[in-house]
Amino acid sequence: MAKLKCNDYGFECDFVVDGEIEEVIVQFRDHTEDVHGIDYSKEAVMQFLLRKQGL
Ligand SMILES: [Zn+2]
Repeated sequence: MAKLKCNDYGFECDFVVDGEIEEVIVQFRDHTEDVHGIDYSKEAVMQFLLRKQGL
């Protein structure tokens, strides 16, 4: 399981997604692109998750 909070990455936003890693990546990327106009790569979002979980 993984979790990402939009406001951890500098956005004034209360979007939170949690679930399976692949699902979190897809949903977080869709959200940041649609709402914030930022197209993070899949690799970038994976780095957010890895860093956060200290893996
Ligand atoms: Zn957001």
